[in-house]
Amino acid sequence: MRPIKNSPIPQVNGVNKSYTNYQEWREDITNAYGQHCVFCNDRLQSRFEVEHLVAQSLGIVSPLAWNNLFLACGPCNLAKSNKVANTSTHYLPNSNNTHLIFEYSIRKHKKNGKYACIPIFHPNLTQHQQAKSINTIAYTELNRIEQTPIRQRKMTDVRWHNRYNAYQVTKTQRNLWDQLTTPQQQTAYLNTISPLVHKTGFFSLWLNAFNGATDVLKIVINCLPNTSDTSFDANFNPIPRNPINLADNI
Ligand SMILES: [Zn+2]
Repeated sequence: MRPIKNSPIPQVNGVNKSYTNYQEWREDITNAYGQHCVFCNDRLQSRFEVEHLVAQSLGIVSPLAWNNLFLACGPCNLAKSNKVANTSTHYLPNSNNTHLIFEYSIRKHKKNGKYACIPIFHPNLTQHQQAKSINTIAYTELNRIEQTPIRQRKMTDVRWHNRYNAYQVTKTQRNLWDQLTTPQQQTAYLNTISPLVHKTGFFSLWLNAFNGATDVLKIVINCLPNTSDTSFDANFNPIPRNPINLADNI
């Protein structure tokens, strides 16, 4: 899950822009954070929703509060519904280095035999951190593997499938990178990778695949708008974002 920093509220003539409708928000939020779901990091196609990180109906924040608005895919939005999340019980992408909380597991779908890639809590976490990681997965049901919609659901959830496809893309790209032998070849590759990162989504899979390949990590981290720069060291390795706080505060 990509850690993000809150983008400043857009200004008009030096004054904070005020919003009266979702259309306008959606355009500005897409510019601020890119066209990916804030939770699963899947690439958003034509149909996507403006999402309150903290549910609007809980009355905690104004429905127009810029810093609480992000883009989410349909399955994440539907799974989240009005569940409660905060930084004492969950890891949130605009507060924590959420890249550090999951690893990814490849499984076969029970019914159709297709492969799925799903997040599980990272084994390096403490027991308390694992509990928060599990809560974060449950918040938008990121580990759900489902081919057909069950009666109550409004849409098919193929996040597991898209994530597996992205996993394959990132593995293939890493293999390509490792075969490049000259600085010229590497420069040419680095000049083309950004559009593919945008198109593929699933930020953490890119980071995992290119572990140790600093030049590529730099582009992956910087090509998406408002990735949290305090979540990475000078060599673009992920680091805790809140190191001086409580041990569980990644
Ligand atoms: Zn999503």
